[in-house]
Amino acid sequence: MTQSAPEPVTEESDLPLVTTSLYQVLTGHAISDRSPGQCVGCGEAFTVGEIVFATAERCVERTRWRVPRLYCWGCAPAVLESPTVGVSEAIIGGRVGTRLDPTGQVTQYCLTEIAIRAYSPASHG
Ligand SMILES: [Zn+2]
Repeated sequence: MTQSAPEPVTEESDLPLVTTSLYQVLTGHAISDRSPGQCVGCGEAFTVGEIVFATAERCVERTRWRVPRLYCWGCAPAVLESPTVGVSEAIIGGRVGTRLDPTGQVTQYCLTEIAIRAYSPASHG
């Protein structure tokens, strides 16, 4: 990580902040508890174990990363086309994995085997 100054925190501010890698943050990141998701480009529905790409983003005032869009291999952007100042953004690759929620009742779909394809720190626009 290349953070040079502490970032303001407006949520979960009672939790200690730690510096970690994007790989750790996004491994196990839940996609959905209903389906493994689908490509926003072509609508292909993903299956468990399939290679998937995603955009990940985090505003500087937030502690949580969001993964708003999933892509198949063919639709995944190679570069971040319009990086935004104040938002850390990445294009990641991985596979669709599963995890059980604590009750064991619901299978959640999540990201595994994360690889970073492109990254734009919040200081870049
Ligand atoms: Zn697609």
